[in-house]
Formats: sequence, C-alpha cells, structure tokens
Amino acid sequence: MLPYGRQSIDGDDVRAVCDVLRGDWLTTGPQVAAFEAELARWTGGVPCVSVTSGTAALHTAYVAAGLGPGDELVTSPLTFVATASTATQLGAEVVFADVEPDIATLDPAAAHAATTPRTKVVTAVDYAGHPADYDALRKVTDAAGALLVSDAAHAIGSRYRGRPVGSVADLTTFSFFPTKTVTTAEGGAVAAIDPRRLEAAARFRNHGLVRDRALLRHPDEGGWHQEVTAFGLNYRLPDVLCALGVSQLRRLPAFRARRAALVARYDAALGGLDGLAIPARRAYADPAWHLYPVRVRGGRRREVYDRMRAAGIGVQVNYIPAYWHPAYEDLGYRRGMCPHAEAYYAEQLSLPLYPGLTDADQDRVLAELLAILT
Ligand SMILES: *Cc1c(COP(=O)(O)O)cnc(C)c1O
Repeated sequence: MLPYGRQSIDGDDVRAVCDVLRGDWLTTGPQVAAFEAELARWTGGVPCVSVTSGTAALHTAYVAAGLGPGDELVTSPLTFVATASTATQLGAEVVFADVEPDIATLDPAAAHAATTPRTKVVTAVDYAGHPADYDALRKVTDAAGALLVSDAAHAIGSRYRGRPVGSVADLTTFSFFPTKTVTTAEGGAVAAIDPRRLEAAARFRNHGLVRDRALLRHPDEGGWHQEVTAFGLNYRLPDVLCALGVSQLRRLPAFRARRAALVARYDAALGGLDGLAIPARRAYADPAWHLYPVRVRGGRRREVYDRMRAAGIGVQVNYIPAYWHPAYEDLGYRRGMCPHAEAYYAEQLSLPLYPGLTDADQDRVLAELLAILT
C-alpha cells in the first residue's frame, strides 16, 4: 500500500541518532537546545520550546496563553481533534467557527462572529500547509482582546505574505509525527513571541520546576533546591529525538522542493478535470504543502476512497469536523454548526504526498484516480 504520507530517513538522520545513543545524554542534553535553535531559523527567529508531540505543544501553548475554566477558545472544526480537545481538557469552552469554503482555514468573519467577552484564544489551523489569513485574524483577536494561536502542524516552512509561519501568531505549535513534513518520531514544539509565554511553556513541559535562585520562594534551602510554583507535566523531547530533528530540519529545503514538484504534477494532471477540484490557494500564501487535498464531486468521495484503497493506494480523509466526535456530541455539539466545513469534509480526499514518492508512484496514483473518474 502506498501511504498518504510517510517519513524520509537517510544516513545522516541515522548517524545523528546513533551519535547521541553513544554519548552521555539520552534525554535533556545539548541536542535539545540545538534543535530549538535550528527550528527558530524557520520561525523568523521566534524562539521555540520542544515538547513530546503536536498535542503536547497545543496543551503547552494553551497553558502559556493562560487558558482555563471560564474562558472560550474559537477554532476551526476542520482539524485534527487535538486542536480543540486540549483546550476542552483545560476546562475552556471551545467555540467552533466555520472555515473559508475553498481553502478550509478559519474564516475571519466567522471567527469574529464567534467571539465574546470571554474569548481568550483564537486558534487558526494552516490546513494542508496553506496559511490561514493571519492579518484578518489579527484584527479579530485585537478587537476581542484575545491571543492568536497558530496550529502549524501542517505548515512548517510555509509563508504568509512573505513572513514565515511561526512568526505571525502569538503562539505557534508544530508536530513532528512521521507523516508530517519533518519528523522526530513523536515530537512537537511551541514558538512564542512574548518571552514570558516562552518561559511559561518551558516550565510547563518540565513539571513547572524553577531553579533560578532569583525566582525561588525559599532560596536558602540548599544547592539541590528547586521549586514547583505552578503545576506542569513532563513533556520533554529527548536528546535522541532532538538530534533526529536537527538532521531533519537541515533536509527541510529539499523536502519542501520535492513536495512542491509533486504538487505541481498533481495540479497539471488533475486541474480542469470534471468531478474533482484541486486545492485552492490565495495570493498571500506560499505554502509548504503537507497534504494534497482534492475534492471529489458528485457524492463519489466514499466510492473513490474505497476503490483507491482496494488498488493499494492509501488515500486519507482529513478531517471529520472535530465536533462530530462522540466526545463533543456528548457535550451537546450538534452537526450542522459549520456548513462550509461539513461540505468540505464530505468531498475531501488526501492523495499520497511525501518526499520519497517517486514520479512512477505518482503516475500510478493518477492512473487509478483517472480510471475511476473518467
Ligand atoms: C498531527 C496534528 C496534531 C497533533 O500532533 P501529534 O504530534 O500527532 O500529537 C495537531 N493538529 C494538527 C492540525 C495535526 O495535523
């Protein structure tokens, strides 16, 4: 089965990991800072804190934003559920606002309509790698007195009006799961513009521990002393995985170029075809594509999914609207809330896209798809 996404691991990646395994640190060591510094080269210099997953990154970012009971968070339903569920777990109320019908990112007008005096965070998702409209969303958060968060799990290396993703929102989260553009096996990161929020994120991923003498409530306890001033968790990304991350980030320009070439080939082969729409894009966006999301018209998405899978091509659907999950249904969220997101979901199909996909593999995907549609 050709997967819809997959990691690319080369000899440099393997060597980087093995070097750490033979060294003195397995978990927090020099590779953590090296990875965070390398990542900041992709966020326009905005500093980053590594964590154990994209989900942990969202949880940590929301804690750094001060999100809690009594607060509301506005976000898109067309995302992996963790964008919302991490906020729900913090006791905040998630308000789903609809997406732009063509690019499937959070619609600024819908987000604006969903804000209330209790809105603390608006989280955009750079669906498939295409950035949301951040300037328009910034107006929404400014008017609401809220923070702008970007779930950029799909979008490392993408640009919005020439600015790198990671530099446009107050807090940006990344995922380094194997299907994503860059992998550390499991892993994630938070980029934070405000140094106090960066510090809050760094503490939260390390149990909330404080060692800086100037910040201790009981500074004369002894040299061993450290304090928990606010509760945290252990979300530390190990040195072994950070070494893989450094090596992978060095390959990101090549990953991005190969993905762009595959996207151009898909566009050329599928553009203008009856029964299918290729991904839309905005003039403001320079996407580093993570997914290639087509829309299958005529109510045939399920049929095309089943037939592609039967032909050994691992197409995927990204995503069922988050509030369709039974856990949200049980909280009273009802279908029909975000009609654009639901209409997009009903037609969406992700075709295989990853750097190791050869032209011949892609030709096979296209041949199967065209045989079904024409
Ligand atoms: C993958 C993903 C996440 C979660 O990341 P994990 O590393 O799998 O925890 C969150 N949001 C979006 C949009 C994702 O694609």
